[in-house]
Amino acid sequence: MLIIYAIVMLDEQALGIMKELMEAFGPSGFEREVNALVKQYIEPIADEVLTDKLGTVAFTLKGDGPKVLLAGHTDEVGFIISSITKEGYLTFNQLGGWWDQVLLAQRVVVRGKKGDVHGVIASKPPHILSQDERKKVVEKKNMFIDIGASSEEEVEEAGIKVGDPVVPWSPFSLINDDKIAMAKAFDDRIGAFVLMEAMRRIKENGIAHPNTIIGAATVQEEVGLRGAQTIAHKVEPDVSIVLEVDIAGDVPGIKPHEALTKMGKGPGLITYDRSMIPNQPFKELVIDTAKQAQIPLQLSQMSGGGTDAGRIHMDRTGCPTVVITVPTRHIHSHVGMLSLKDTENTVLLVIELIKRLDWETVESFTAL
Ligand SMILES: [Zn+2]
Repeated sequence: MLIIYAIVMLDEQALGIMKELMEAFGPSGFEREVNALVKQYIEPIADEVLTDKLGTVAFTLKGDGPKVLLAGHTDEVGFIISSITKEGYLTFNQLGGWWDQVLLAQRVVVRGKKGDVHGVIASKPPHILSQDERKKVVEKKNMFIDIGASSEEEVEEAGIKVGDPVVPWSPFSLINDDKIAMAKAFDDRIGAFVLMEAMRRIKENGIAHPNTIIGAATVQEEVGLRGAQTIAHKVEPDVSIVLEVDIAGDVPGIKPHEALTKMGKGPGLITYDRSMIPNQPFKELVIDTAKQAQIPLQLSQMSGGGTDAGRIHMDRTGCPTVVITVPTRHIHSHVGMLSLKDTENTVLLVIELIKRLDWETVESFTAL
């Protein structure tokens, strides 16, 4: 099939939005800043902007057909201050899953009452550890955040208290001839970015679609798919596409069957994860659509973990759902990496799917 509308590869404006989204502050439960940004970008093109009472922001392009929910979560993995020591160090709990090995010596931003404070995650230095201790991984519970203070009072003075949120400090950059983007928070703001970009192009290019499109920047995914539940309840979708990152398997040490997608080889389609088995006719439609539109597609599977789709597909009496991904290296760390070409192809695939999701097609997903 020939795509006849004008589509440019992610332009400067889109890349600017991507950068701002990734650099915005917003661990699980603290998404106000990033979702205000989403609202600001999307309001000019949306027919309606809505919010639920947990913090998700959603926006619609109205039509006559089925309600298509596109969902991408905007919370990032971060931390929450759990105590302040007499000596002025901060202990923390995690918001979302963190691997101990990626934490030490990393810069973080703590958001307090008086604004952002920079610090570093540290532990007892190796110089004073025994030989045995040096070989062991330092656990999170033995780490602390150092903001350069020397007393509890100094921390208080800086406006920091127990319960304040923390995120990685990690500027967005383009590398490898500007083909690859490197940033924090790709999981899953790249999903939110893809759906915003797809809806912007649909609106600006006047692409006809047989449905109402609802894009949602969901909250609190990393702590248990919480925002997906409340927004699905609110919008009552007939069908849903969740946009997510995938674990790129083209990293040394990963066996081919452990992570199937590779960075730069096209969007992924999750065929199974711990939270959902996709609707099978819908899954086949994604495969056929990619083929027809000549968009590369990688079949994927995740034996651990889940996505917002885990909640959305069980909303009310059920909702046919698929998860489409952008393969991403090094997720849940300070620096993720993904291909702009994959991102572009994911946008194109979403647009092609939306064009096909009319009543007849959506009803066929569950017809016997
Ligand atoms: Zn994640």
